[in-house]
Amino acid sequence: MGGSELIGKEEKEAIGEVIDRGAVLFRYGFDEQRKNIFKVKEFEQKFAEYVGVKYALGVASGTAALRVALAALGIGPGDEVITQAFTFVATVEAIMEAGATPVIAEVDKSLNLDPEDLEAKITEKTKAVIPVHMLGVPAPMDEIISIAGKHNLKVLEDSAQACGSSYKGKKTGTLGDIGIYSFDYVKTITTGEGGMVVTNDENLYLEASYFYDHGHEHRSDVPRGEDTQKRRGFNYRMGEIQGALGIVQLSRLDYVIREQRKNKARIKEAISGFKELSFRDLPDEAGDGGDTLIFFLPNKGMADNFEKELTGQGIGTKILPSALGWHYFANWEHIIKALKGRIEYQIGMWPHSESFLRRAIAIPISVKMTDEQIERTISALQKAAQTVLL
Ligand SMILES: *Cc1c(COP(=O)(O)O)cnc(C)c1O
Repeated sequence: MGGSELIGKEEKEAIGEVIDRGAVLFRYGFDEQRKNIFKVKEFEQKFAEYVGVKYALGVASGTAALRVALAALGIGPGDEVITQAFTFVATVEAIMEAGATPVIAEVDKSLNLDPEDLEAKITEKTKAVIPVHMLGVPAPMDEIISIAGKHNLKVLEDSAQACGSSYKGKKTGTLGDIGIYSFDYVKTITTGEGGMVVTNDENLYLEASYFYDHGHEHRSDVPRGEDTQKRRGFNYRMGEIQGALGIVQLSRLDYVIREQRKNKARIKEAISGFKELSFRDLPDEAGDGGDTLIFFLPNKGMADNFEKELTGQGIGTKILPSALGWHYFANWEHIIKALKGRIEYQIGMWPHSESFLRRAIAIPISVKMTDEQIERTISALQKAAQTVLL
């Protein structure tokens, strides 16, 4: 689960401090009343420094962050944006909310965007690509950025599930033109609801900061009520309580990842002897956030049985297969229907993704797993493997 496991005294104090020192819950203004407390601003600065970018903008959610990033990139009606068949529904919702058309590419054995299929899906309308770093594992960014560069596409990284993960020494979310994170309750760190947009491009940052706050320019020389209107926007702001929580949670992020990786390594090692179980490909193993262990069974029937065995022993799965309905484009009839006339999709259009996703089992790894919990997980996995693979 990540940061939510660690919510405690520090988070409580951080919220209390906001209340005690003026109780200004808004990101902007009220300078006298707030006694120099700017929690969202401080969270943004610390987050930018942590991931290694020039600009970070705190927003209301990861979904909002995607919408704001697309607006900053100038994506709109008539544009195509390529993303992957395996992602949370929010990635596709944000593209549609921007008025653009989602074009869905395959995932490969890393369960991240397949660079080859990305290139095959590019048309003259394609403006951007959204690689999603699924379940803590970085996407193959070298290949993706090189293809995007060749075709003049913007790269928006959906790092909602990979806050603190990295690719070849750089944090995920910072390798493309613009990146986003989610701090919802089940993400690596949490502010309840919340998100972040990051970029090194001043212009993209400014456009994002206008769009997410009704077009406000945020001039410091005039009161907010007299601020300049730069563009049509919306309200996707983060509030001060979220900012206060975020600062504390960010200080826990390295610990979260370290512990998850340690627990994951123990469990992975213990089942590595089963040759019929093949593990998910890791484009950069050193950059894995460690919150999920994924392996594939030889076929769907075996994967179904494997899950049944695990459930019978009280061990749940994470997304694969337990919440695939929310994470696989082929399951979204309502979206496929809404896109009719613009782009025609059928269920069977992603045979590689289908094959990997239907054979996959994902085991959730948490920060505070005790030795006993780890042993119980290992023995359940070994028992399931012995039963199913016989
Ligand atoms: C969680 C998630 C989002 C959306 O984040 P929210 O904060 O829940 O709105 C977007 N993309 C992916 C891949 C996610 O997992």
